[in-house]
Amino acid sequence: LNAAPMLKIDNLSAWYAESKVLHGMSFDVREGELLTLIGRNGAGKTTTLRSIMGIVQKRTGSINFNGTELVGKRTFQIARLGIGYCPEERAIFSSLSVQENLFLPPVLREGGMTDEQLYATFPNLKARANSQGTKLSGGEQQMLAIARILRTGSRLLLLDEPSEGLAPVVVKEIGETIQRLKAQGFTIVLVEQNLRFARLVADRHVVVENGRVVDILTNAELEADMGRVKSYLGV
Ligand code: ATP
Repeated sequence: LNAAPMLKIDNLSAWYAESKVLHGMSFDVREGELLTLIGRNGAGKTTTLRSIMGIVQKRTGSINFNGTELVGKRTFQIARLGIGYCPEERAIFSSLSVQENLFLPPVLREGGMTDEQLYATFPNLKARANSQGTKLSGGEQQMLAIARILRTGSRLLLLDEPSEGLAPVVVKEIGETIQRLKAQGFTIVLVEQNLRFARLVADRHVVVENGRVVDILTNAELEADMGRVKSYLGV
């Protein structure tokens, strides 16, 4: 992938109150690329996604998205530029139906999936359109969380551990969905602890340790040297 960077993160630091969690991270994401953030619990992967979206108290450095600086912008402004965030907890509204959950976020820009395209991409959701959010399985909730941001016209998707807590067969389905989105041209940053899952779908991997980028590998480099990566993850 030789495309120009869509997202360029330079010397990013971030804080929760007085506590500094990210310490000068730099990496970029090319258009159409699927990049994972890997690393141990508490390394700062989620905080990196939250920093891109402007959901931390303080951040410094630069996050350039298609030429626009995100540091200093508010979350709603960042979303409007075409970045969709799928948090780890999925944030499905339990009292709303699948359909209501899906159609809740405003369509912020052109180019989002139509209802038909969405239901074609996620046939399970169509079958469950009138079910209550909480009555869904974990896998269906994850699909719903991803589908919800596709309506908004986002072209960069930030997905936080979509495989978490799901059975292997469901993880496989989510992986296929993510690969399909990549094939459709979405650019994806995926936080992932599950290496077996990450290596199936990704172009490159950014290894995060103590709020720092300690390595960046192509998927081929990861395949060729699993020992190196496992040592980072302590597995
Ligand atoms: P995990 O997979 O466990 O979520 P992670 O790599 O995503 O790990 P983060 O969630 O980004 O890690 O956490 C990075 C550090 O920031 C950790 O030390 C964590 O304890 C701390 N932290 C996370 N959220 C907050 C918060 N709301 N307030 C204060 N500290 C926080």
